[in-house]
Amino acid sequence: MYEITSIDALEVLDSRGNPTIQVAVTTPVSVGKASVPSGASTGKREALELRDKDDRYRGKGVLSAIENIEDRISPMIIGLDVRDQGLIDKKMIDLDGTEDKSSLGANSILAVSLAVSKAAAVAVDLPLYAYLGRPNDVRLPVPFMNVINGGEHAGNDLDIQEHMIAPVGAKNFSEALRMGVEVYHTLGSLLKKRYGPVATNVGDEGGYDPPIDDPIEAFEIIVEAIDQLGYTEEVKIAVDTAASEFYNDGSYLFGGKELDSSHMVDFYEMLIDEYPIISLEDPLAEDDWPGFKELTTRLGDDVQIVGDDIFVSNPKIIEKGIQEGVCNSVLLKVNQIGSLSEALDAASLAMNNGYGIMVSHRSGETTDDFIADLSVALSCGQIKSGAPCRGERTVKYNRLLEIENELTHSSTYGLNNIT
Ligand code: PEP
Ligand code: MG
Repeated sequence: MYEITSIDALEVLDSRGNPTIQVAVTTPVSVGKASVPSGASTGKREALELRDKDDRYRGKGVLSAIENIEDRISPMIIGLDVRDQGLIDKKMIDLDGTEDKSSLGANSILAVSLAVSKAAAVAVDLPLYAYLGRPNDVRLPVPFMNVINGGEHAGNDLDIQEHMIAPVGAKNFSEALRMGVEVYHTLGSLLKKRYGPVATNVGDEGGYDPPIDDPIEAFEIIVEAIDQLGYTEEVKIAVDTAASEFYNDGSYLFGGKELDSSHMVDFYEMLIDEYPIISLEDPLAEDDWPGFKELTTRLGDDVQIVGDDIFVSNPKIIEKGIQEGVCNSVLLKVNQIGSLSEALDAASLAMNNGYGIMVSHRSGETTDDFIADLSVALSCGQIKSGAPCRGERTVKYNRLLEIENELTHSSTYGLNNIT
């Protein structure tokens, strides 16, 4: 009853109109369907996303990755018990045999891995979060909503990629989402008034794409929106700088100036002093480990420091970070490492060592809501899924509303690693 009877893979489109893989895993009692997201500001050490590099879709087709699922993965997986997630993932990882999953493609492996877990959850008649997670400690996450897009995700001149709002002081998830939506729309009105109607065009993650280049101006106007609504105590700010994107030869080209790591840390010190910032993601570049160490030493007691490009959700690199005292939190993106089991290993490693976890979408997304359940399963207290705008972003937030509604009084809400 639990054996996998078929695996069907299809080339579909992501939110940027690029091809990605959707997989359906079938058992006699269930079907689990999953699709794979894709980043734009990717870390160098991410597992490899296999693309066709031919004439179709400007080289971005995924037919070769689908062929790998059909010809290499399926024959090995069909007939296995769908509940054996660890074994299935290990078989795919071993079959691939490379450090970066470049033989089968991380997109092939992950699509099957996620679909297997969904088919298993249905087969055992559990919601996905309960199948993956810890029923005794069900915590709904703070939604970190990216309300102003910059960097690789927008057409403006902002160097900082993501300016997020985090309603940490809400009493539950649905109140947090409502506050976030109200701030988002108030911000839209302020931006329109100040910069004209083009300012409310949106970037890849649904945040506004205003014609601003001064980083401070972006924080000023977000604070104005929060204060106008009277949410000064409840709603705080978080940043994903994605600093690898403007790092070259040991220096950062930031705000029109060339800065070394120490001067970047000075900037962040000023920023967290002046603005209600609780979290800094990728404040420095993935190769700047000495800079990260200095930053963690100087600011790590005051704010969350989240490693994204630097850790790429890879347990081996996270382990090094823990040993060297770099960051105090991990951004968890399942497609960076390429299998559910390894993503869960990364989360356990981080949590067992006192690091926080923020579950994350990618800038190229689909309407798969897997990460919503994952964030609840981990009870990590944090998720980022872009602005409360665009279907591929809101589907995750809507799934969290559904989960909270289902759990009524048996869940808690909020951060568990930042005070
Ligand atoms: C990020 O950098 O955290 C992010 C979501 O962007 P991307 O998916 O482009 O890496
Ligand atoms: Mg990031």
